[in-house]
Amino acid sequence: MEHNTLIIGNWKLQPATEKEALALASALNKEIRPHKKITLGYAVPAAFVSSLKKKFPKLSFGAQDVSAHESGAHTGEHSAKMLASVGAQFALIGHSETRARGVTNDMTREAVRLALKEKMMVVLCVGERERDASHAYLRFVADQIKDALATVPKSKMSDVTIAYEPVWAIGSDAARVATPEECLEMVIFIRRTLADMFGKKVAESVRVLYGGSVDEKNGITFLQTGGVNGLLAGRVSLSPKKFATLIRSITL
Ligand code: PEP
Repeated sequence: MEHNTLIIGNWKLQPATEKEALALASALNKEIRPHKKITLGYAVPAAFVSSLKKKFPKLSFGAQDVSAHESGAHTGEHSAKMLASVGAQFALIGHSETRARGVTNDMTREAVRLALKEKMMVVLCVGERERDASHAYLRFVADQIKDALATVPKSKMSDVTIAYEPVWAIGSDAARVATPEECLEMVIFIRRTLADMFGKKVAESVRVLYGGSVDEKNGITFLQTGGVNGLLAGRVSLSPKKFATLIRSITL
């Protein structure tokens, strides 16, 4: 299946206030012209989803995490139902920064199940912390996928996107950006893992994104030669001008 390109900006723990979040969305909206080749979404702090969605109903906003629980004694968490009820259309699940706070593969499985139940699109983030010569990192990523998607029926896989984010390539202290070749190798491996679980047709139709120090210059190379259907971008999505440059590079 031919997809248009999915670009998701992950704002992480930014900006500081609701007023600034609305101003950022407004600036992004001004800089970026909608284009039929691109589907755009912003993974924003849960506190801002409602007001952003009310002010910019045509933009797509999502959550950065979903609780593995529906309700109960889980202080500080947000359930899929809560997030969907304030306008979150998708959710990142298993981002390495949430995994670093203790989110396990089992928890991602429950979060995926609950998000799909609320009809949110799931962006399952996977990626190794480091690469080793014996390729154990491939098994690590396969396990993340198999565990998270274990209860997802084939028919629901159209609501799932996989974001490959090598942890060593994320953030301002990243070792380096992945090469498009490294990305392509992993995309092929991810599709093979999906084929084992859901069959070839599903594996080929699932969108796979790359994330990890994407910027306005390197983003296009992952799309051209890295084998991905889109990008998950952190820092660059906080700069309306740079993010718009990235988007423009894809539409040319
Ligand atoms: C991310 O957080 O998903 C990410 C890829 O961040 P950055 O682009 O800043 O490396």
